[in-house]
This record gives sequence, C-alpha cells and structure tokens, in this order.
Amino acid sequence: MMEKGEEEAEKDKGNGNQNGSSSISDRLAELSGNMEEINRVKRKYPMKITRYYLDLIKGKDDPIWKQAVPAVEEVEDDFNQEDPLQEEEHTPVPYLVHKYPDRVLLLVSSMCAMYCRFCTRKRKVGRIQQIPLEDIYKAIDYIKEHKEVRDVVVSGGDPLMRADNEIEEILRRLREIPHLDIIRIGTRMPCVQPARITPHLVNVLKKYHPLFMNIHFNHPNEITPESSAALKLLADGGIPLGSQTVLLRGVNDSPQVMMELMQKLIKNRVKPYYIYQCDLVKGVDHFRTSVETGIEIMRSIQGFTSGLCLPHFVIDGPGGKVPISPQYIKDITPDQIIITNFMNNLYSYPGIKKGDDRQLFNKHIHRIGIAFNLKKTLDKNDRFDKYAEFDDLDTINAIRVALEKAGYEVVLLEADKDFIYSLKDSSIDFVFNIAEGIHGESRESHVPAILEMFNIPYSGSGVLTQAITLNKSRKKEILDYYHIKTPRWQVFKNTNQKLDANLHFPLMVKPDAEGSSVGITNDSLVHDIASLKKQVSKILKDYDQPALVEEFLTGREFTVSLLGNPPKVLPIVEVNFDHLPANIHKFDSWEAKWIFDNPNSPVDPIICPADLKPKLKAQIEKVAKLTFEKLGCVDIARIDIRLDNDGNPHVLDVNALPGLMPDPKMNSRFPRSCYAAGMTYDQIIQTILNSALKRYNLLLDPIKERTKQRTEGNGKPHQDVPVHVEVAPLKAAPPQVP
Ligand SMILES: *Cc1c(COP(=O)(O)O)cnc(C)c1O
Ligand code: SF4
Repeated sequence: MMEKGEEEAEKDKGNGNQNGSSSISDRLAELSGNMEEINRVKRKYPMKITRYYLDLIKGKDDPIWKQAVPAVEEVEDDFNQEDPLQEEEHTPVPYLVHKYPDRVLLLVSSMCAMYCRFCTRKRKVGRIQQIPLEDIYKAIDYIKEHKEVRDVVVSGGDPLMRADNEIEEILRRLREIPHLDIIRIGTRMPCVQPARITPHLVNVLKKYHPLFMNIHFNHPNEITPESSAALKLLADGGIPLGSQTVLLRGVNDSPQVMMELMQKLIKNRVKPYYIYQCDLVKGVDHFRTSVETGIEIMRSIQGFTSGLCLPHFVIDGPGGKVPISPQYIKDITPDQIIITNFMNNLYSYPGIKKGDDRQLFNKHIHRIGIAFNLKKTLDKNDRFDKYAEFDDLDTINAIRVALEKAGYEVVLLEADKDFIYSLKDSSIDFVFNIAEGIHGESRESHVPAILEMFNIPYSGSGVLTQAITLNKSRKKEILDYYHIKTPRWQVFKNTNQKLDANLHFPLMVKPDAEGSSVGITNDSLVHDIASLKKQVSKILKDYDQPALVEEFLTGREFTVSLLGNPPKVLPIVEVNFDHLPANIHKFDSWEAKWIFDNPNSPVDPIICPADLKPKLKAQIEKVAKLTFEKLGCVDIARIDIRLDNDGNPHVLDVNALPGLMPDPKMNSRFPRSCYAAGMTYDQIIQTILNSALKRYNLLLDPIKERTKQRTEGNGKPHQDVPVHVEVAPLKAAPPQVP
C-alpha cells in the first residue's frame, strides 16, 4: 500500500497520462478547456483527484472544482507562510506534533486520496515518500513515555491511505498505552473516496474503541448516496463521527450553504465539530474570507437550526485553536448580565443576590458604612428648618437594603460627635456618604475629611468640592471664572452694606451656605431696599452667616441629576409652580418644597422628563456637565438651573449631596430623575457605589477576574502575562483533517 501510494503521487506529479488516470485528465481538459495553467501549478503543488470526486464536479469553478483543481493563484501567493501553525517547532519526534498538554497529533501518512488545494500541510502532502512505519512506531514510543497524553489524533495526509493491516498495527500499539484514553482518526476518505470505507476496515477500527473519527466535508454537494453509505458503515460500527469544515471563499462562505451542509451532516449522524477560519498557508490566500464572514455565518445558523448542527468556529494558530463567536454578552455588572439572543433581542440575567458574587467582583470591600445625619425631633427653641437637610430612617434603611442586596455587610455610622469613635471600631472598608455635617461653614466636608484622615475610601465628592458647593458665593465665583451663567449677586455681611448698582430688583435673599431651601422662604423675594434690609438682617441673625443677594430670574426652573464619572445626565426635572396659591411666589421656596408639596397633596410639582426643545435640552445638559466638572464633583450631584427672561440657562445651585428619599411620592428630585430613566432605587445606590469603587480602582473587571480565577483554579501556578509578547501571525485551519 505504501509503495502504491508513492507510485500514485509520482504519477500525478507527471503528466498523469497513464492507466486509469488518462480519463481523469481527459475529463479535466474537457471541463477546463485549457490544461496549461493546471499543469504549470501542479509542478509546484501536486494534483490528485479521485474519479469519484471528479464526477461530483458539475462545471468549471464550481465548489467541488475549486477544492480539487489547481488554480494560478496558488503560485502567485507570496504573502503567506509554508508552516503558519509552526508545527515543525512543536515536533519533539518526527511525525508527532505536541502542542497541547494532553493531546498529540500523530502523522501516519504523507498522502491523500485527493490533494485539497487549500490544505494546511500543502508544504508536505504528496511531496514526500510515504512515512516509514518504523518512524511511526518511534513516535508511538514517545506517547508511551509521556503519561500526560490521553488523546491522540491520528492524521496525515490521510491515515486511511495506509493498508488495513498497517492501520491495525498502529491502532494496536496505541491501544496498548494505558494512559491513552481516546484515539481519533482524521480522514477525508468518506468525502473523496467513500469506497475506501469497507466493512473490513470498520471491523478493524471498532476493535480499538473508544475510537472517534473526524471527517472533512466542505460543501453539501459532497454528501451523496455513496458518502452517506460510508458514513452509515462507520456510525453502525459505533464510531462517533465529527466533522471539520474549512471556511473557503467561493465554496461555502454563505450561511445558506453552511447551514445546509451542517444539516446534512447531522442527518448522517455526523456531529459538526469545527469550522476553521482558513489558515495563512502559502498558496492558499485566494481561499481566505474575512473572519467576520465566519462570525456572520455562526450568527445566522445559531437559533435557526438544531444546536446539534452548531460547530465551533475557530482560528488556528501557533498557540492552538481559538474559538471565535458572535458577541452575545452586551454587559456584565455585579447585578446582571445583559445578553442578546439570535434575533438580537436583549435579555438580562440577574446576579447572585447575596455575598458570593461580590467576592468575585470585589475582593477588597466587604463592610460598608453609611455615614448619615439622622433627622431629629425639633426642640421648643429650635429653628423650624434646623434638620431639613438631614435624612430620615426610611432613606437610610433603603440605602442599607440596596447595599446588602449587592452583597455587602452594612454598618450604620451616625456622623455626630461620636463618629470618629464608631469609625475606629467598625472595621469598615468603605463609606457610603450622605452626611450633611453638624456644625461649621464647611460642615459637608467634615466626613470626607475625617475619612481621608483614616484613609477610608468613600462615595461622593471630596473635601474641597463639598466645602465649595455648600458656599453659594464661592461657588458662583468659580462659575463666573468658567463663564458659566449664574444670576448676578452680592454678599451681605452686615445690614449697612450698600446695594451694588448693577443689581436690579426683584432680588432673592438667601443664607450663603445652606441647602434644601433652608432659609429660602416666600419672603426671600424682595422688591425694595426696606424689605431687602429686613431679609438680610433676618439671615444674619437666624442663620449666623452672610446673606447672598441675587437677581431673581423669571424663567422656568429645572434641576438636573448627574450620575457617574464622567457623569450621565438623567432625565431633567422641571419644577412646576402652577399649583401654588396666588400669594406664594413662583420659586423653589421652603413653602413650595415642604408645605405645598407633601405626600398628601394631589398635585405633582415635578415634571420629569421636562418638556424641552432639543436645543434647550442640549444647552441645559451642557451647562450641567460643565458645572459638575469644573466644581470637581464625582459620582453624584444635582444642579439647579433657571432660565432668564431670554431663555438662557443660569446655574442657581449645585448640590453634591442631593436628597435620596426612596418614596417617589416624596418627590426627592434625584431619585425621581433616576426612576424616569428606568432605574430602581437599588440601582441608584449601587451605581453611586460602583462609580466610587471604580474611581478608587476597587471595582474589579468581572471578565478579567473570571479568567484569573480559571487560570488560578487549574492547580498550576498562575503565570503572569509576559512583558514582551512575540506577536505571531495567526494562521487558519488545521490540516489535521486530512
Ligand atoms: C486541533 C489539534 C488537536 C486537537 O484539538 P481538539 O481541540 O481537542 O480537537 C491536537 N493537536 C493539534 C496540533 C491540533 O491542531
Ligand atoms: S486537507 Fe486533508 S485530505 Fe486534503 S490534502 Fe490536506 S491532508 Fe489531505
């Protein structure tokens, strides 16, 4: 058989003008009309076609022709390499490729029944003498000595080019090796010479189970009654059959052809195994398609036919096969994975509720403290709005629940005078900060300052931003500096100060450093010097701080919620004053916020999303983002904006600790914006947290972490990525499918 193989190869390299092959040449000449090119190419790359396969050709350049008949492009390719898979470098003994730890490729024949024009081992097949059996036995000895090898792929050329008794001897020696679990044979015979699959051969093969066979079909026209009969013989012999297909331009690079092929294979009890992206083999370049073509084919088959018909699409290279898949994962967060199905519809799958998954995403953060100031009952002598900015238990609890759902342990830390002591004892890793501060002109910056002293990371803006955003006039100076419009203003430190000639009534009088409309009442809007003086003196006395006097803008009022870094602008809120009684001015006063808007009131003072012309909306968003950035806000902020007479947005205020009341009826503006964007309360809190963790580099990339875990989990020491990686050009399909 060996000698006969050589003879055939020799014969085909020549004119092929002898014996049975003369009719092959005649038929080819008849189809091509011109043998000159074919003859020129086959001097470099041998040609051999079985009579059976030739008869499948329906016309010149059809998919069968292209696979079998030499084309001039083969000798014009000076782009690709002879051995792109670098098999020679992974060859410890002749005729054995050891690339994976547990698998080897054993080459037992240098010949094939037909020489595929796209063959990855084009450099070898049909060009060397048949492989000596002695060399094959030496390679088998190598397997015997390497106990880690549990799977051998018997390949070539085509192993079935050898005589049955030779095949039997090779299989017998392999089966004697105790650590060898499975034997696979790669062959193209059922496709190109089905008559080679005889009952005698099958009787030989089935003695050496578990024995698998990988066959090689590239086009539905290759599945004929003859090949079906051959496959039936093999399948009836209990040999599990898998198919390998090379993606070839002009042969099978369309979803329809590929799906038909896969369906015909499975009907013949062949499980589609691999589709190979074409290797970068010299002489094969004209067969290459883009990788996207393969991805598109996979996308078009998935979902439209049985999962049984789905192979893996792989790119082969010096580093082994790499599966390439359409992208079905759109996003992964600790909360959920967003996926698309075959129809491109989006679905989400939730994360694991408690604990476990957090470990994966975040190794450093286990316990989170919530720093807050709890609303107290007013004492007799307390100012009515003393605790307006503080949070109620409902809010603190809702935040706690959201963090717990994300898998963290939560500790409540009231930011009072005992804060430092509770912090020291709490062994927390992170603080979710909503504390407004209890004393002092920069009180909102105190908790951040203390946390920085303890080197504990926290959510929300830092010391400087918290201090500045609480101080309205400082904040306006910065806005001015960056040419962000804000109403003209003047600070009054006593009642004797003269009103700046540039300021025009009506004017608003506010405490310079308060939030939540504290100190802004219906009386804050003044129309003359007398009431201005009265209001300024009230602020100085009641709020123990300078008064900010600014021009009153007559346009619509908005508040803009920003979340993340850089921030996303959430749906804009318009504050609606239409429901206020005639004697109440139309601005966001204490009365408007807390008296005429309460959970029992029938009117909703919040319009979200605000009805805005696209141009104005874009203007407002731009101003809000610029303000966020220039004031150094992070994670979360709410920016109040009002239009002047001409419709220009002015920044009224920046709130780096916006209220987070969960109950939508409470009209807490930041959550209302988020709800309008489709978020849940838990998502709001978790987004703030994750934005902060990301800033501190504490949010680990879930995909990287999974990969790391996998590598660490295989019992081998985890190898770091080498600093310098030699970038090897990738190759395509392996030839081990003879
Ligand atoms: C493809 C291949 C194998 C077998 O790999 P599987 O993915 O298990 O089919 C073994 N060795 C080499 C060199 C190969 O190219
Ligand atoms: S692809 Fe397989 S059957 Fe075709 S020539 Fe190469 S080794 Fe032989």
